Amino acid sequence: MIEKANIVVIGTGGTIAGQGKAASNTSAYMCSVLGIDDILTTIPHASLPVNLRAEQLLQTGSENFTNEHLLAIGKRVSTLLAQDDIDGVVIAHGTDTIEETAYFLHLTLKSRKPVVVVGSMRPPSAMSSDAPLNLYDAIAVAAHPSSIGMGTLVVANDEIHTARDVVKSNSFKIEAFRSPYGPLGYVIDGRPRYYRHPARAHTLATPWSAGTLGSLPAVDIVYAYGALEPATVNAIAARAQGLIFAGTGNGSVAAHLIEPLRNAVRRGVHVVRASRTGNGIVVQNGAQPDEAYSWLAVDDQVPSKARILLMLALTQSRDLQVLQTVFERY
Ligand code: GLU
Repeated sequence: MIEKANIVVIGTGGTIAGQGKAASNTSAYMCSVLGIDDILTTIPHASLPVNLRAEQLLQTGSENFTNEHLLAIGKRVSTLLAQDDIDGVVIAHGTDTIEETAYFLHLTLKSRKPVVVVGSMRPPSAMSSDAPLNLYDAIAVAAHPSSIGMGTLVVANDEIHTARDVVKSNSFKIEAFRSPYGPLGYVIDGRPRYYRHPARAHTLATPWSAGTLGSLPAVDIVYAYGALEPATVNAIAARAQGLIFAGTGNGSVAAHLIEPLRNAVRRGVHVVRASRTGNGIVVQNGAQPDEAYSWLAVDDQVPSKARILLMLALTQSRDLQVLQTVFERY
């Protein structure tokens, strides 16, 4: 007899918990109204080798998630993973910021047990909703031994993505999730098939633990455009301990913004040069003399996730070389 995996499914809201007035409402609907127990009734989980337990942790759109929400999810998942009778965790989540929560968990959970974050682009009430299949696949991935040690995964649209790479890259399509180097694998007929492993360090190989983290430092993102004023940069930098500068192209910085960013550094703010393109590498000392300015270069991470990484890095060190290494290691 096949041993059944014990999987906990956590509800947090989002479209996967949404409901529209009519089946034709694929875009106009109420988010975060269905409880996780109701969502689970939409899938044929009896056909999966799992014992399911559901719990409702939050009930809100993921655009509302603050650092405190991240910590609350991280601490709850850490507690669950520490229990011998739990084999994996699935988190049903809004898709807007799924990449931030998943990356935070990927870097802070101290376990090899599978953790899968899942959302949907259409509510369960819509025609051709992706909610039931995405949730079914997420549970199948969390329950499968091949997912052990992969870190946190995001499952959507038949694909299994590593939390490190995945970003939401479309506002309405089912094909909303993209990893720049491709997904790790696919789910077909309730069975994951992996073709690669995450190359960068995660979970047990990081110095951060969601279970013990207190608070997270304020790190903000500045989105660059030609008419961006120094006053705007100064105002954002005034409250931050770290700043992700989402520059144009390969992390370019307009001439009139160099001094405001250097002044931020002089006041103790850690500035990371990133790119607003959503793809590609920002090379240290490439478009700007980062070391001379005491700036950091993001490597290939998108601004939303660079913010997560810098927050975590700043809980451990303020040393520029150490911080630069973090961007090249995780
Ligand atoms: N904005 C909502 C959220 O991120 C709904 C989007 C979705 O889940 O697809 O929770």
